[in-house]
Amino acid sequence: MNLSQFPRRRYTEGQTPLEFLPRLTAALGGPNIWIKRDDMLGLAGGGNKTRKLEFLVADALDKGADTLITCGAVQSNHCRLTLAAACKEGLPCHLVIEERVPGSYNPQASGNNFLFQLMGVAGISVVPGGSNLMAAMEKVAAEIRAQGGKPYIIPGGGSNEVGTLGYVACAEEIMAQAFDKGLDIDCVVCTSGSGGTHAGLAVGFWGNNTGISVLGINISRPNETQRPIICKDAVATAARFGLAFPEVVVECVEGYVGPGYSLPTPEMVKAVKLMARTEAILLDPVYTGKAFSGLVGLIRQGRFKPGQNVVFVHTGGSPALYHYKDYFAE
Ligand SMILES: *Cc1c(COP(=O)(O)O)cnc(C)c1O
Repeated sequence: MNLSQFPRRRYTEGQTPLEFLPRLTAALGGPNIWIKRDDMLGLAGGGNKTRKLEFLVADALDKGADTLITCGAVQSNHCRLTLAAACKEGLPCHLVIEERVPGSYNPQASGNNFLFQLMGVAGISVVPGGSNLMAAMEKVAAEIRAQGGKPYIIPGGGSNEVGTLGYVACAEEIMAQAFDKGLDIDCVVCTSGSGGTHAGLAVGFWGNNTGISVLGINISRPNETQRPIICKDAVATAARFGLAFPEVVVECVEGYVGPGYSLPTPEMVKAVKLMARTEAILLDPVYTGKAFSGLVGLIRQGRFKPGQNVVFVHTGGSPALYHYKDYFAE
C-alpha cells in the first residue's frame, strides 16, 4: 500500500519497539504475547494519536491552516497530543472538552488536564456530555475565521480517512519488524475507541494480504454501535488506496466496558497490575487497561492456541494513570 502519496509530518524517530513479554506469557499460560510499544511514540507523553497526527497535521498545513481545533473527554490523550503537535508546528490549538461524566471537568486536575495548561492551550470550551462536538468545534472555527485565522478541525480521536492512515502505517511497521525477527504473527489485539487504530490496522493487514487477524476490544460501546463505526472508517480509508474493504474482516469484542467509558472494572484493575508487575509496562485505566483485560478474557476462553503469536498494541495513555490512582487502591 503506497502511503507516500499522502502528505505526512514525522513525530517519531524510527520505529516503536515490538517486544516479547516472557513473564506475562508465562503468567497467563496461553499464546506468546508480544507488545507494540506505541506508548513510546513521539510528542509529549506518546500514544496512538501521534501516528494519526502525522497525516492530519500534514493535511492541515497542506491546506494552509494556521490554527488547530479538536475535541475530547476531560482527560483526553488525543487533546494532549494534538496540542503537542501544534506546539511543534508553532500553531495555536483550541480544545472542546466534553464532560462525559457530569461534573468531571476541573481545570486544576492532574494528568492530561495539567498538560493542556503546561503546553499553553489557546482556548478550552467545555460542553456537556452528548453534545454535538462537531457543531461546537465549528462554532470555535467561526470565531477564529472572524479574526482572520484559518482553522483546521480534527475530529474526536483523529479517526477519519486521513488520521487512520497512521495505523495503516503501523500495520506495515509491525510487518517489517516481524519479518526481521522471523516472527509469524497470528493475531493483533488493540483498543477500539473512536476507531482509527482498529480500522487502520484492519485495513493495513488485510490490504497487504498478511492473513493476520485484528481484534478490537471495545472500551465505550457495545458491538452493535461500535462495529459500524470501524467498518465505515475502514472502508473510507481503503478507498483512498482504490481498494474495496470487505466489512466481514472487522471483529469487535464486547463485554469489557463495564459501567461505561472511563469507569473502572475489577478486570481492568487486575490487568493493569498484572502488566505492571510482570513486565513493568504501564497501561492506563480508560483504554489499554480495559483492552488488555479483554485479551486476558479471550485467553481464558481458549480463543488462542499455545504457540500462537499475539501482538497487543499499547496505544499509550499512561499520563492519565496518575489522575486515576484511586482506582488502584488496595
Ligand atoms: C484514543 C486512545 C485509544 C483509542 O484509539 P482509537 O483509535 O480512538 O480507537 C486507545 N488508547 C489510548 C491510550 C487512547 O488515547
